[in-house]
Amino acid sequence: MMQVLPIQTSATTKECSPTGKLIVLTGPSGVGKGTLMRSLLQRHPQLYYSVSVTTRSPRPGEINGKNYYFINRSKFEQLVAQGEFLEWAEFAGNYYGTPREAVLNQIQSGKLVVLEIELEGARQIRASFPNALSIFILPPSFDELEKRIRGRGQDAEEAIARRLCRAKAEIEAADEFDLQIVNDDFETAVEAIEAVLFG
Ligand code: ADP
Ligand code: 5GP
Repeated sequence: MMQVLPIQTSATTKECSPTGKLIVLTGPSGVGKGTLMRSLLQRHPQLYYSVSVTTRSPRPGEINGKNYYFINRSKFEQLVAQGEFLEWAEFAGNYYGTPREAVLNQIQSGKLVVLEIELEGARQIRASFPNALSIFILPPSFDELEKRIRGRGQDAEEAIARRLCRAKAEIEAADEFDLQIVNDDFETAVEAIEAVLFG
């Protein structure tokens, strides 16, 4: 069984000699990343899920500080300038970023830290943390992906079109990742991720 390696980096900042492990979970919008994460967190409360910062508006039911920290664009740009993000990217018209300090502290304290982020951010993390384990979640088919985005019923038509367009490019990059897991049967996908994280 594949093991998750401790992180080593050559950085001179706090990124150096962390003791925890970093997992990057990426995949096209609607593939089921959030649902998989919720299930993993329920089963393994010792995991640390990094809550991202975004300029996207909250969807119905989303809670500030739990799903995301929702802020405006000028505040986000200010945080970028202050170096507050470990990575950040623009996705479908909104900014998304991973808070640097919180994640580094959790890694330093030995936690298994999971970032659920899109492709550009995953590339930035792989560049700064070469030993991070990267997992790409694939849909069983593109038609099924579209069905799931629509079935979620939380995005406007224009947002759905942008996400599907971006999904094609993301899926083409799946081979860059250490592992590819198809989220067809949900339980099988959760178990495949668990097998990688916990051996
Ligand atoms: P993402 O976080 O990747 O954008 P979500 O977790 O919001 O995706 O899932 C999108 C939709 O797909 C949700 O309605 C979710 O219930 C559904 N879904 C997730 N995994 C599966 C699966 N294995 N089979 C069928 N539907 C799924
Ligand atoms: P959504 O708007 O559907 O919640 O997320 C859109 C995309 O942004 C998803 O692919 C999600 O994984 C990604 N995302 C969420 N948080 C971050 C982050 O902090 N950084 C980056 N780069 N992407 C993120």
